[in-house]
Amino acid sequence: MNLILLGAPGAGKGTQAEMICKEFDIPTVSTGNILREAVKKGTELGLKAKSCMDSGNLVPDEVVIELLKQRISEDDCKNGFILDGFPRTVPQAEALDKMGVRIDKVIEIYVPDEKIMGRLSGRRVCEDCGASYHTEYKKPDVCGICNLCGGKLVQRKDDDPKIVKDRLTVFHEQTEPLKDYYSSKGKLVVVEGQEEVKDTTALTFKAVRGNL
Ligand code: ADP
Ligand code: ZN
Repeated sequence: MNLILLGAPGAGKGTQAEMICKEFDIPTVSTGNILREAVKKGTELGLKAKSCMDSGNLVPDEVVIELLKQRISEDDCKNGFILDGFPRTVPQAEALDKMGVRIDKVIEIYVPDEKIMGRLSGRRVCEDCGASYHTEYKKPDVCGICNLCGGKLVQRKDDDPKIVKDRLTVFHEQTEPLKDYYSSKGKLVVVEGQEEVKDTTALTFKAVRGNL
C-alpha cells in the first residue's frame, strides 16, 4: 500500500504517519527528516538544502525527487510506504507518476491556518531521531527527553513564528494545488485534525481502510 499524507506544516502529518506505520506495518518516508539528517551530517545535499529550509522555502524539486527515488528503492519499501512531506509541488507529483509509483490514497490532514501557529510554536523535535512532540498536546514521558531514543528535544529553527507564516504561504501556493491533482484522480480523502491526537488517528485509520 502506497500512501501520501498531505497537509499544512504543523497539521500533524508526521504524527499520523507514525501511527499508520505502527498499525499497518509500512515504513514512513519523510523528506523533511531525511533533509534534516543531511544538514546535521553536513553532507553536500545538506549544504544545498539548509538555507532553503531555514528560511521556510522549499528545497528545489530536482534535489528532493532524486532523494525520494533513492529512498523508496530501498528494501523496506518493497511492500509499500507512507510519504510524509512529499510531494509538495505538482512537478514532484508528476515525477512520482513518471517513476511508475502507484498511489493508493492521499490523506489530507486538514487544520485551519489560525490553529497552525499555536501548534508549531509548541512543537519540539528529537535532535537524534526526529520524533515530534508538543508542549501541550503530546508531552514526552520525561520533560525534554525523547521517549523513543532518549535524545534531547529541541525547537526547530523553522518553527519560529515569522518563518511559520512563510511556510504557510508556500503551502497554499505550491502544495495545496495537489489537492485538485489527486481529487481529480479520485484519490483524495480529507481528515479533519481533531483536538486530541487519538481522535485524529481514529479518523486516519478509517481513511486508510476506506471507511471514511
Ligand atoms: P513541515 O511539514 O512541518 O513543514 P517538513 O519536515 O516536512 O516540515 O519539511 C521541512 C522543510 O524541509 C520544508 O520547509 C522544506 O524546506 C524541506 N522539504 C521537505 N520536504 C520537501 C519537499 N518534498 N520538497 C521541497 N522541500 C521539502
Ligand atoms: Zn528520539
